[in-house]
Amino acid sequence: TEATMPSIAGGLFSAGRGISWLRLRRLQRPLLSSLSAGGGSDAPHLPVVIVGAGPVGLALSFLLAKFGIKCTVLERSMEFTRHPRAHFINNRTMEIFRKFDGLAGDIERDFDKVVSPISVAHFSQYKLVDLLLKKLDGVGFQTCFPDELGGSSAQDLLLENKILMGHECSSIELTDDGILVGASFNNGGRMQERKLHCGLLLGADGARSKVRELAGAIGVLVAHDLEHGEFVLQVPFYPPQQMFEDFSAKVCEQIIVKLVGWEPADIQVLDIKPWAMHAEVAEKYVGCDNRVILVGDAAHRFPPAGGFGMNTGVQDAHNLAWKLCLLLNGIADPSIIQTYESERKPVATFNTELSLENFKAAMSIPATLGLDPTIANSVHRVINSSLGSIIPRNLQKVVLEGLFSIGRTQVSDYILSENNPLGSLRLARLRSILDEGKSLQLQFPAEDLGFRYGKGALVAEDCAESTYQAEDLKHSKRSSGEYIPSAKVGSRLPHMLVRPLSASSEGVFSTLDLVSGDKIEFVIIIAPLKESYKLAQAMLRIADEFELSSKVCVMWPQGSRDVEAKGSISELAPWTNYVDVEEIPRATVNSSWWEMYQVSNRSVILVRPDEHIAWRTEPDMVRDAYSDVRRVFSQILSLNRPQV
Ligand SMILES: Cc1cc2nc3c(=O)[nH]c(=O)nc-3n(C[C@H](O)[C@H](O)[C@H](O)COP(=O)(O)OP(=O)(O)OC[C@H]3O[C@@H](n4cnc5c(N)ncnc54)[C@H](O)[C@@H]3O)c2cc1C
Repeated sequence: TEATMPSIAGGLFSAGRGISWLRLRRLQRPLLSSLSAGGGSDAPHLPVVIVGAGPVGLALSFLLAKFGIKCTVLERSMEFTRHPRAHFINNRTMEIFRKFDGLAGDIERDFDKVVSPISVAHFSQYKLVDLLLKKLDGVGFQTCFPDELGGSSAQDLLLENKILMGHECSSIELTDDGILVGASFNNGGRMQERKLHCGLLLGADGARSKVRELAGAIGVLVAHDLEHGEFVLQVPFYPPQQMFEDFSAKVCEQIIVKLVGWEPADIQVLDIKPWAMHAEVAEKYVGCDNRVILVGDAAHRFPPAGGFGMNTGVQDAHNLAWKLCLLLNGIADPSIIQTYESERKPVATFNTELSLENFKAAMSIPATLGLDPTIANSVHRVINSSLGSIIPRNLQKVVLEGLFSIGRTQVSDYILSENNPLGSLRLARLRSILDEGKSLQLQFPAEDLGFRYGKGALVAEDCAESTYQAEDLKHSKRSSGEYIPSAKVGSRLPHMLVRPLSASSEGVFSTLDLVSGDKIEFVIIIAPLKESYKLAQAMLRIADEFELSSKVCVMWPQGSRDVEAKGSISELAPWTNYVDVEEIPRATVNSSWWEMYQVSNRSVILVRPDEHIAWRTEPDMVRDAYSDVRRVFSQILSLNRPQV
């Protein structure tokens, strides 16, 4: 009863070369009730299955668990990777982690907190994975191994809120009401397949490793944690003449000794993994009736230059989680998932270009030292061409190694010395590159916090505003890009410290904290003006109609007293879901929140549960408050979009 439909997957998900997707087959089954248990399949029926327990899969499962959505994670390995890949966590990701039950606090380092209530951080990926697992434990998630689950027939309840280790997603079949996922696992020495039937399948299974050509036994040592002496060595290699297996722990130790120039007594090689440099974005993030969704490296792969990979992935998860929650609770239309793609794909495309530019900038260092990687690439290409293939394999290896030894000579003490005219010239050039900050850049404030969605679950202000901010960023000078906070639609809500104006509340918090991290809630920001109160009332009522949780924040100028703020009670009655706050402008810039973010204080701002601005208007631009606001919420929830 099964018919093969091979074209769905390739067409939907292929991304230039590389990112391929498992072949999908549509099962000819009687119609099953969507997202309900059982149906015509014996497999457990789960709302959401996530493939991959990397940082992105774990972040997504945490958010879903917090929002009350049960999910199951499949991880093919029997243990979480100890390999320290990512180490730079950018500002926006740290803001998101603040609301992961204090995760950001666990990893925080000192940083200027002017534009954000939190800092960036240098923290190894495997340590982050450990902390994410602790947070998941806190929301009731468990890690299970095949022997704890037994055979292939497990009840769905048994699989909910679990990370199934040693389970490799090996097949995906599109059924009439969901996705049938095959997960192979080793049950006491015998390979078995477990079937899971789910409403939504989220692919967070990382990039498929493909090796790219770079020059030989020359390496870069990256300090991940100086206090604990933790470093990562990156060594380029050229297959098939050089293979991953050539890099044993012993060989790596020798490279390290050569790189540092002396023999440290306590080198310990902990883990060795190959990785390939990619610059690709999947054509489509969403497919199969909005049921299969790619996140993280599964959707995009960047060169590791600029720390965008994991950060972009965690931010994908954050963009997606609230939409999934509203969809699974029957509040949003399934096509809201398309807005995940229209918002996040331009960000990935932009970050790909930025990482590539940054990678090229980083290459100026070896090029200045006489180690031009393009030469090694060209030689490798010739060796692998039909001309090169007539050279015996062992001779090919000799040619490559000869090339690398020329490379090594370029950085030897003999050449790279102030006494050698060539060496002194190269060292002078190197100093000027480093002084001018033209090498590898890790912080991109304009892109980190300043990215803006142009099209998606929002109502663009006008046509001119509706392009993704990439265009704005392209016109500004990227490398020196300063973050300019903005309250334009699609932007992340700008940060300012505020103080609650109620005698019973104390303390100071960020405007970002107006948005709850524990539930899906929209926030309406207004100044204490009569017309704004009226519009806010209409918004609260329509939000209620849509079964959306919402609250109003009345932003008072600095110096307003609790007595004045009492006005909100009568203006917003009978609603009580509001908060009066007083602005605390920075000492150096004595402007109001509205002035700082270039919007009139007559603006009424609607903020989404992911802290991005969904709509901005002014009371005199609204003709019929109730029908206009109803249209706005319908658009955000994709209720008036044609099904894709
Ligand atoms: C050298 C290097 C340095 C980097 N530095 C940074 C940095 O500083 N900052 C930054 O943001 N990013 C950085 N990155 C990128 C970052 O490591 C990745 O973007 C990040 O790991 C992506 O997370 P993920 O969860 O999407 O995928 P992954 O971490 O690849 O996780 C995918 C998981 O899915 C599992 N899996 C795969 N296939 C299956 C299957 N069929 N069934 C079940 N499970 C499966 C895998 O075992 C794995 O656990 C760096 C990368 C490299 C290589």
